[in-house]
Amino acid sequence: MQAGDLVGAKALRCASCGAPLKDPTGDLVTCEHCGTVSKVVDARAFLDQIMLQVNAFVRQSLPIGLDSTATATIDPVARHNLWTTSIGPRLSTEYGEYRFRTYNLLSHPLATLPFTLASDVPEGGDPKQAFLFQEKVRSVASLAVDEASRNTVAETTGLAVAYAYALNNAALLRGNRPERYHLMAKNFADAAVAMHGIPRFAGLEARFQGLSKLSEGLDLLTQAKVSDARGALMDALPSLSRAQQVMNSDFDLAVMLQAVNEELSLARAASHLNEAISLDPAGVSAASLLSFQAYLGLLAQHRHVGEGLWQRTFRSTDREARLLQLALEARRAQANAGAVKVAPLPGSVAFPFWVVEAPYSFQTGAAWRKHAVEVAEAVLVASSFPLEPSAMSGADPSTVVTDVFSARERAGLLQRVGGKETTISAGGPVRGLLQGCAPRSLYGLRIVPPLSTSDDALVLAQAYIDASRRKDPSLDKQLKLSSPRVVDLVYLPLAPVPPGGPLVPALGALSPRSVGDPNHFPHFFL
Ligand SMILES: [Zn+2]
Repeated sequence: MQAGDLVGAKALRCASCGAPLKDPTGDLVTCEHCGTVSKVVDARAFLDQIMLQVNAFVRQSLPIGLDSTATATIDPVARHNLWTTSIGPRLSTEYGEYRFRTYNLLSHPLATLPFTLASDVPEGGDPKQAFLFQEKVRSVASLAVDEASRNTVAETTGLAVAYAYALNNAALLRGNRPERYHLMAKNFADAAVAMHGIPRFAGLEARFQGLSKLSEGLDLLTQAKVSDARGALMDALPSLSRAQQVMNSDFDLAVMLQAVNEELSLARAASHLNEAISLDPAGVSAASLLSFQAYLGLLAQHRHVGEGLWQRTFRSTDREARLLQLALEARRAQANAGAVKVAPLPGSVAFPFWVVEAPYSFQTGAAWRKHAVEVAEAVLVASSFPLEPSAMSGADPSTVVTDVFSARERAGLLQRVGGKETTISAGGPVRGLLQGCAPRSLYGLRIVPPLSTSDDALVLAQAYIDASRRKDPSLDKQLKLSSPRVVDLVYLPLAPVPPGGPLVPALGALSPRSVGDPNHFPHFFL
């Protein structure tokens, strides 16, 4: 090892994150990894400071009288002994800590949708320290003479560097700087390079490559450069799938499998989003980008709803991916490149509704003539119900559904005694409307993209049925309900701003009273 290896030809380092800097052309230099602009003199001073610490480490690690510049001249056996008795044990303790922290960080998904902060990525950890550790290991690398110790050096430096870049990205994921995806792409690309050629980290190399492409695609998407974004997003999928495959049969990296699954789902969601933005009816992708910004902002808010009722479905990892897929299907129908189920109504804005089938049986007739009647009832649930406070709080779920149970026309007493009741609900008009629904284009209409998944709709429907039973004891006594299930998503063309009358005039008294706060809608109409 030469003295020059330690101090002379080193690249300058960013005083903020510790990453190597490009050769500066003027007095200032910008870090490609964290975006910090610093004076060249400060970067040089920082590098000197790092090298002082590295030299101190070398002096402490080597026997007294042995100069770090002389290690390359001692014979291999002596070097090997130095490694196994002194250097190796010192490094392995510190490496163990880095490994633990790295695996912990990497067991979280390191990606997020645009306009969304990843608040659950763990905080803490200083990339500068990780880079310093890398330099320490490098400074004694010439003492690693056999294959095993050389592998240790490669693994240790590789992981320290990958950890440093991942820490940079964890910080970027928690904030919303406009250039964050650009910086993330660079950090991930260099993390992949750091993993290259280390067999036990092959899965990580593929993961970082995929994440770099995903970040690059999202950087382009957030600038409405949809056709360039498409290519990068498509490239992310095979790398992330390869990472998933490798980790599936890799005991060591298996703790990251769930995170990679989520990153894959996010990469698919990003592709859906990009295509949906590209299908702007007026051909102005930047306009669609703004609508989707408002839409994604709402989805991000809903993810943090603390209420017990919604915790399970709203926090589901693939929720945004499923909703964006539905939004894309609607968008394709709007562009005449696909079809969704649409009700024959005259409005100009297509509102999505979940169709929930609630099969039930009830007892009718008196005494010895009592018998059970089976009925299949359909309830419409406004997919935008997360924008209606009374539905979200559980106070009154009936506001956002076709309230078939309280609108029922009660059968006369004579009929009941005679056992002639055929229904205790009143969903006739809903069933009529559904019969008229057919796959159609949404061309010329504006769209409200779905704000709830079928799982959310099921929770809402169950809450509605429970509330109906509590409200009406006679219904509760008669009703034997089998589990409701979601069977379809239909679009109802309605007036953009609700008029004075029912929201869905065709349903009369059965019309849902709300599809959510109307003040929200114009922001994310598509
Ligand atoms: Zn930096």
